[in-house]
Amino acid sequence: LKEKIREIETSISQKYPPVKFLSEKDRKRILITGGAGFVGSHLADKLMMDGHEVTVVDNFFTGRKRNVEHWIGHENFELINHDVVEPLYIEVDQIYHLASPASPPNYMYNPIKTLKTNTIGTLNMLGLAKRVGARLLLASTSEVYGDPEVHPQREDYWGHVNPIGPRACYDEGKRVAETMCYAYMKQEGVEVRVARIFNTFGPRMHMNDGRVVSNFILQALQGEGLTVSIICYIFYIYIYMCTYFKGNPEEHTILEFAKLIRGLVGSRSEILSLPEAQDDPQRRNPDISKAKLLLGWEPVVPLEEGLNKTIDYFRKELEYQANNQYI
Ligand code: NAD
Ligand code: UDP
Repeated sequence: LKEKIREIETSISQKYPPVKFLSEKDRKRILITGGAGFVGSHLADKLMMDGHEVTVVDNFFTGRKRNVEHWIGHENFELINHDVVEPLYIEVDQIYHLASPASPPNYMYNPIKTLKTNTIGTLNMLGLAKRVGARLLLASTSEVYGDPEVHPQREDYWGHVNPIGPRACYDEGKRVAETMCYAYMKQEGVEVRVARIFNTFGPRMHMNDGRVVSNFILQALQGEGLTVSIICYIFYIYIYMCTYFKGNPEEHTILEFAKLIRGLVGSRSEILSLPEAQDDPQRRNPDISKAKLLLGWEPVVPLEEGLNKTIDYFRKELEYQANNQYI
């Protein structure tokens, strides 16, 4: 049997990243909605390399096949073009529900669609979880705190959200999604987990995402002005890299951040001051003591290391685009 296992591992590792062999009893069938996006594709890598069967469901609104192309054809991997606003009938053991645009320009592009994705889409995934008895994790957000009045933000803070402002489609959409998760847990016994992710960056994030890290890196690489729209903002960065949620428990003003990225890129871009966007949170900073105590989780990737890896990725993406512009 050991020979056979080694044989399978070798044959698979020649074409794909190395995958652990798991016995059928330990191997889970895992659905990742939004798995062709930035965070979801890293999660797909981790779960595939751990030896599970992974189904990625994505409508490719902001995600790309390129993010998961290294798994296409692997017997443990499936990619389905599907919109979670429509029901989905598959058999799985676990669901990671990430499908939703994440950056302000993307979620404001079509606010009604953002609301449908986070409400109807989440309802569909909870219905699926209930039918098949799967555990579901919802990728929620620090935006459920709105423009917080309490610092740092603990899990039991209820937030300060403008329900009719330009960010409401996302903030309120995620708040309803969380409410749905807990209703399905209490009423139907569905096992749920909610992760409130803070502003995250790393390789595979969309270059035109429109968020602060991608904007500053791209602007610095292209010699354009860095658009600082808020200078008193104190900011906490969670870095997503490789396989786990990782981060660096430091606060920085956006201006400091612009200077840091400009220095790391080695750019001479000037720093431009833009008017503040409506309802932009002034300060966000998670209290991670509960995650540390209960999950043993704490940030491990230093800020500059994470930024340098993201800068390298963006450089390669720009080269790739330049070389493929006439295709
Ligand atoms: P992303 O835009 O890279 O990925 C989202 C994925 O969901 C994309 O592949 C997109 O095509 C897909 N999607 C969107 N609407 C869909 C729909 N209706 N049906 C099927 N697929 C759909 O964003 P990300 O940064 O990887 O974020 C993933 C999740 O994490 C999101 O739920 C987001 O709200 C949450 N989150 C991310 C951050 C962050 O900083 N990246 C912060 C807080 C929360
Ligand atoms: N920001 C900025 N310049 C940019 C983009 C964003 O100063 O080019 C600021 C923005 O006003 C906000 C912070 O950076 O205060 C984080 O915004 P981002 O769009 O990255 O994400 P959010 O966490 O608000 O979804």
